[in-house]
Amino acid sequence: MKIVISVSDKEKAKDVQSPYQKALRAVWVKPEELEMVSPSHAYFPDIRDYDGVLFTGGKDINPKYYQEPVKYPGAVQIDEKRDAFEFELFERAHRGKLPILGICRGLQMINVKFGGTLYQDLNSEARVELEHMQSAPRPQPIHTVTLTDPESGLGETFKGSCQVNSLHRQAIKRLGRGLKVTARSEDGLVEAVESAEPYPFLLAVQWHPEEMIERPEARKLFENFVAKCRQVAEQRR
Ligand code: MN
Repeated sequence: MKIVISVSDKEKAKDVQSPYQKALRAVWVKPEELEMVSPSHAYFPDIRDYDGVLFTGGKDINPKYYQEPVKYPGAVQIDEKRDAFEFELFERAHRGKLPILGICRGLQMINVKFGGTLYQDLNSEARVELEHMQSAPRPQPIHTVTLTDPESGLGETFKGSCQVNSLHRQAIKRLGRGLKVTARSEDGLVEAVESAEPYPFLLAVQWHPEEMIERPEARKLFENFVAKCRQVAEQRR
């Protein structure tokens, strides 16, 4: 079994210290079952080598991918290489029916890939009542999210609502076609999406479960993803 973690060049430099790796090791994934790739990877990863993909946090998706100019040059930060790299990696993983987990930027990238749009700057564009970019330490929960679809994949990780951290300046504005919302914050923002069509595992969350892996719901989310990846690996043998 092998999981590929798509990260920024900066995150890749953290290697085994990356919280994404730590979270997966906490649910019994062996170090040799993990590989991190970033846009400066020497060659494009061959998706057939992997049994699941994790898309992680980072800079903003270039708004040109949802037909908008950059509206807030001071706030919007772009990584052109990473956008191109991840759209391609997602395309291949999705075509190959691999389990896919998205976190923060990962959720936003997936929504744009499905033709959706984003609030470029929540505080300027949306009517939000909560602080979604917390100043509290990253592992600390700051708001709750409520499950909007109990039959969803997320419904297997918690029931009702769950306390999460919040480290995003952007969020989903218009949902991409082919996705469904499975959790929202109290002020109405989309906090989780999944595939609307039958798909082995395509789940993305706006919060950072890897930073709060000691909490049972965060742990369960990674466990469910890894279980799917192991199942795929088993079928591949
Ligand atoms: Mn939030």
